[in-house]
Amino acid sequence: MSQAPKQPRDPSSYSPSALTRALPSYLNPDNLGPWGIYLQQVDRVTPYLGSLGRWVDTLKRPKRTLIVDVPIHLDDGSVAHFEGYRVQHNTSRGPGKGGVRFHQDVTLSEVMALSAWMSIKNAAVNVPYGGAKGGIRVDPRQLSVGELERVTRRYTSEIGLIIGPTKDIPAPDVNTNEQVMAWMMDTYSMNEGATATGVVTGKPVDLGGSLGRREATGRGVFTVGVEAAKRIGMDISGSRVAVQGFGNVGGVAGKLFAEAGARVVAVQDHGGCIYREAGLDVPALMAHVSRTGSVAGFAQAEVIEPDAFWDVPCDIMIPAALEQQITEANAARIQARMIIEGANGPTTPQADDILHDRGVLVLPDVIANAGGVTVSYFEWVQDFSSFFWTEEEINERLVRIMQGAFAGVWQVAEEHKVSLRTATFIVACKRILHARDLRGLYP
Ligand code: GLU
Repeated sequence: MSQAPKQPRDPSSYSPSALTRALPSYLNPDNLGPWGIYLQQVDRVTPYLGSLGRWVDTLKRPKRTLIVDVPIHLDDGSVAHFEGYRVQHNTSRGPGKGGVRFHQDVTLSEVMALSAWMSIKNAAVNVPYGGAKGGIRVDPRQLSVGELERVTRRYTSEIGLIIGPTKDIPAPDVNTNEQVMAWMMDTYSMNEGATATGVVTGKPVDLGGSLGRREATGRGVFTVGVEAAKRIGMDISGSRVAVQGFGNVGGVAGKLFAEAGARVVAVQDHGGCIYREAGLDVPALMAHVSRTGSVAGFAQAEVIEPDAFWDVPCDIMIPAALEQQITEANAARIQARMIIEGANGPTTPQADDILHDRGVLVLPDVIANAGGVTVSYFEWVQDFSSFFWTEEEINERLVRIMQGAFAGVWQVAEEHKVSLRTATFIVACKRILHARDLRGLYP
């Protein structure tokens, strides 16, 4: 039995480490956690892998896991330590690739799962990458711009051992953006003694970034939504859409659906939940969110309870925030006919089964949100060739890749009578393990 502390802890003693948080609730033993969920997904797909199944353990352990201490000077002169991670799940098909998130609840289990989902996603759309992911356990909203820059630079320097344009290429994810990528690129380049634009993607356009990258994930979400709608006879025009998370992914997807004639009726984010049956004014809402940081306080809408989001009458639901949002507790309440996973890992396996039994079509993250990394790939190619494409060319190639990948996954789902998630895993795991098989083991 562990000993109770002799005295209650003085809250002021938390500072500056108060910026880091206690373990998140999903690490309780009754909850699989993201990595446990990923392992279940692999188990579901193993019977379909044929002789490649002998390599399946490769997928069940990350190739390389780095945990780093990230100490920085806070503005008040004190020193704070944050924990940072970079996990390279698999590099059989090419360098590691995947974003970096800054969030107070980031854990190693989460980053491991996210890195594995990147391996699956990159193979699903057939871009020549393995999978990787990084994160820092920090609430960036508590930091000044200067502190954020110092955290980013120190983290980049620490993971500099294993990243590089041909080794592992980070990109934006939750709470990281073009500016963070610019600092990462600069830090890496300073340490290397040469400007290396190809070390990260999602950079500002004036610094080797790609046109269309910012909207790419949302555009991909929209593209697969349209493809799936065609196949189930759903009309996008006039359909009702509910979106969770209205940042780079949910906001852009919502805008594209609205432009196609859909009504975005509900949006929930960390600030609250809003509803408007006639459809929200999406461009106005996007402007409000970028000004205030959340949907809270948007005048032209009703405020509803955050939990009521799951009961909203809608045809399409787009979870575009964090993991494990659709669970046993709310899956049976969702009224949508189709769920498009803009976020990574938003649906637990139990919820997946409930939705499947109820006939709700789930377009899984590993294909639905692959538009971001697809344009990251275009950015990386453009950086290497120092030749930049027009936005039209980028969007056209993005749509072509997403449509082709989705058609392939749909066919596999029909052939094996499995969910689109299992079908995407079948396609992707076969590609990864085929590369593994061709390369063989070293030494
Ligand atoms: N963070 C994004 C994702 O989860 C993009 C990764 C990238 O562009 O490398 O897919």
